[in-house]
Amino acid sequence: KAEFMKFAYFDKEIVEFEKATVSIATHSLQYGTTCFGGIRGYYRNGKVAIFRLKDHYVRLMNASKMLGFEYFITWDEFKDIVTELVKKNDVKEDFYMRPFIFCKEPRLSPKKAGLDFDLAIYMLPLADYVSSEGGLNLMSSTYRKYNDSSIPTKAKAGGSYINSFLATSDAQRNGYDDALMFDDAGNVVEVSVANIILVYRDQIIIPDTGNAALEGITVRSALELLEHNGYKITRGKIDRSMVFSADELLVTGTAMKITYAESLDRRPIGQLDFNAKPEAGKFHKLLKSEYEKVINGEHELSSEWLFIVE
Ligand code: PMP
Repeated sequence: KAEFMKFAYFDKEIVEFEKATVSIATHSLQYGTTCFGGIRGYYRNGKVAIFRLKDHYVRLMNASKMLGFEYFITWDEFKDIVTELVKKNDVKEDFYMRPFIFCKEPRLSPKKAGLDFDLAIYMLPLADYVSSEGGLNLMSSTYRKYNDSSIPTKAKAGGSYINSFLATSDAQRNGYDDALMFDDAGNVVEVSVANIILVYRDQIIIPDTGNAALEGITVRSALELLEHNGYKITRGKIDRSMVFSADELLVTGTAMKITYAESLDRRPIGQLDFNAKPEAGKFHKLLKSEYEKVINGEHELSSEWLFIVE
């Protein structure tokens, strides 16, 4: 059960988390009309450092615009609210922050007319989301990832997470850690709430699937770190056979950080022997150590990527 931090931002003020409540008839609850962010913050050397806060802000505002919520807040206003909330919660540990835009008004129809959307933010302590031992055992999901002609795939829109819910719940019910999702043509898109990078025959490939994958901030960071280390990235179609015969399948997301898949449909990734025990590959090791350096303030990119709360 998640333990939330004491204060949240709600109705344009900082309030106690328990007091930030809405009616069961809200438009957002009934129709999934929210867009949200998921951000990690770290407590290092006596300071709170938030990972790529500005990029998360831009993605959230773009989502609000795409979804037609007509809610906007400036970067200065947003960062001031985040700063105040972090201070009020007297944060002294690593955490996860969930800003979201929603409509708390009750309404019986899905239409927008006359509804106001607003920002809320809550926080919770979060160390590791996946165990640091080993990688993920993935299942090929029978649920396809929707595409941009149905729902804007670049927005983290609440209602669209029914897709992730179905995929990841089925995977877990079948004894796997998570689901690998494909588009209608059978190309790999992403994991239920994380992006993928495939290492295949000396190439680093990210899926070119008509942009059905969310534009993850962690995957962007991983690719920038790889380029920083002199590697080239290819964008291409990835089918399931390529995953089975790949050297590595990296999995990236705010919650998972940078991890990897041990297997897909019980076939080990990066091993020829069906019964071999999978191990972390060289790109996973490189990226994990680079990411740790960034968040510890020891990387050339740390100052660019970390928002220090002062
Ligand atoms: N894809 C989906 C569908 C997600 O929900 C997430 C988590 N936000 C990601 C990918 C990874 O994105 P990020 O690295 O920005 O957390």
